[in-house]
Amino acid sequence: MELRLANEESPQLRARCIVLSLFFVLYFKEIIRLGRRYPFPRPPNCLKEGCKSQRIWGHGYIEIYFEGYNTAITLRRYRCEDCGCVYTIRPFGYWPRHKVPIRIIFQRVCHRIKHGVWDKSNGLTRQRQGHWLRALKKNIMTYLGMNFDETIFEGFYELMYRVRIPVQRTG
Ligand SMILES: [Zn+2]
Repeated sequence: MELRLANEESPQLRARCIVLSLFFVLYFKEIIRLGRRYPFPRPPNCLKEGCKSQRIWGHGYIEIYFEGYNTAITLRRYRCEDCGCVYTIRPFGYWPRHKVPIRIIFQRVCHRIKHGVWDKSNGLTRQRQGHWLRALKKNIMTYLGMNFDETIFEGFYELMYRVRIPVQRTG
């Protein structure tokens, strides 16, 4: 199940190739158990406009830590032989470079708005959550031109729909 496509914008990789994230439902427990033997889904063809090549070959693995898991999670990469585009298979429900699931980030930001205090359970600090909220406010203003106070839910979803990470500062 392919759900969304987003540019990872890694500065090192951007220089030589495009890196795209493909989001799938992945089973973390199985990845931990099987490691590189996990049956990662493979894109049937290149998704870059004007390419559509079917020569998509394995391009190694990356190891990423996610919140709540003590061990690194191994994720598969693929590369298009024809245009050089690299695909990372990522778990649905997480943004690139964010270790906390999207639903938790959304819950915590909503909690702060609704109750005026931070929910600091499970080791999520006020500083970290404050960073998300400030970025969200800025993104809603910058990209949607909306008044933040009335539009947090709409703003959050609208930014996601536009393939932006609502809680990540972009400039
Ligand atoms: Zn391609």
